[in-house]
Amino acid sequence: MKSEIISVGSELLLGNTVNTNASFLSRKLAELGIDVFYHTVVGDNVYRLKTITKIALDRSDLIIYTGGLGPTEDDLTKEVVSETLGVDLELDNVHLAKIKKYFEKRNMKMTDNNIKQAYIIKDSKVLNNDIGTAPGVFFNWKDKKIILLPGPPTEMKTMFNNYTAPLLKQDSIIKSKTIRTMGIGESSLEELIKDLVIEQSNPTIATYAKQGQVEIQVTGKGKNEKEIDLIIDPLVKEIDKRLGEYIYSYNNESIEEVFFKQLKKNHMTVAFCESCTGGLVSSRFTAIPGASQVFERGIVTYTNNSKIEELNVKESTLKTYGAVSEETAKEMSIGLLNKTNVDMALSITGIAGPTGGTKDKPVGLVYIGLASKDKSYVIKNIFTGSRQDIQNKAANKVFVEGRK
Ligand code: ATP
Ligand code: MG
Repeated sequence: MKSEIISVGSELLLGNTVNTNASFLSRKLAELGIDVFYHTVVGDNVYRLKTITKIALDRSDLIIYTGGLGPTEDDLTKEVVSETLGVDLELDNVHLAKIKKYFEKRNMKMTDNNIKQAYIIKDSKVLNNDIGTAPGVFFNWKDKKIILLPGPPTEMKTMFNNYTAPLLKQDSIIKSKTIRTMGIGESSLEELIKDLVIEQSNPTIATYAKQGQVEIQVTGKGKNEKEIDLIIDPLVKEIDKRLGEYIYSYNNESIEEVFFKQLKKNHMTVAFCESCTGGLVSSRFTAIPGASQVFERGIVTYTNNSKIEELNVKESTLKTYGAVSEETAKEMSIGLLNKTNVDMALSITGIAGPTGGTKDKPVGLVYIGLASKDKSYVIKNIFTGSRQDIQNKAANKVFVEGRK
């Protein structure tokens, strides 16, 4: 089944609202085994909505609209679709009563334009709106399926999950496994699994690069999850054989989650002292529920003075080697280990840019120090990209090092 998502709303074209509805629906449709071939965004305009509807009818079997089901003048999806397809709208008294009740319950006055929302396409299936007032619509038109969903994301998601997905159940479903890697570039990675990528149609392999990481998505199609696992697993094993040293997770876990789980398993505690990442490492780490079980503290020591005061870094070290140096990173992590009672202390000092680099110490130079009771070492990294990229890549590397 070829499907298409039409997102209606001028605010989407203006860039004021990110089209999260389309990405949500695409993911959900993929899980249902339905191919999505087009995303279209169109403003609140009768002529253009009509035009795009005709195009969609020509090329898609399933068309899902989101937005423009509300009570105001610019909400016109239902009206335009009914006119373009030549189907009638009729007042649905059951829904009119529901809308009235919605307003009564909230002690709000229902205005006349809300009646508009109770008009439903004739002979269609009404999709309940458990959160808002605009009902959705599902109907067959010739050999096509047409679905109208509201624009507000929470309403749309609830309506899709509860009332729409069950109507779209297919004979086969899709399931993906995401393998996450770090420490290898996308093209080198692809080189190592090229033959697998070319060979496959079910399962398929796709790679995505983002901020120093490469994700490999293995997707299978089958009658049920068990059948898909049988298709996917041998391929995942083969990928593991070739790329094992770079893989850190098989189930969508972030690198900080993997690090957290490892600490927890080993009953270990950790502390961070950060210069160029400004607290990012601690922030990402504490975003994990339960972080308090392993996280002792995070200190941002940005100036030289703070490194001396908080971490006991020697003034002479800073003078001789500079704040961004192997020696400073080492003293920072050891200082933190001594100050706290943690099993592992990690330090980060570097140049996030875009200014401040020199020939000897370029933008992207980041030292990461690790100190524990039985070892202490520093690794030198040169990261590339924007200030934010460098900070994120440095944080990733801290979690990778900690996990080793
Ligand atoms: P309402 O009854 O709220 O008017 P509606 O079905 O008419 O609902 P819209 O008016 O198109 O929906 O959109 C309502 C709000 O939902 C918008 O202000 C926007 O914030 C959000 N929204 C609409 N479409 C999308 C989308 N594709 N992705 C993310 N958010 C969206
Ligand atoms: Mg609206």
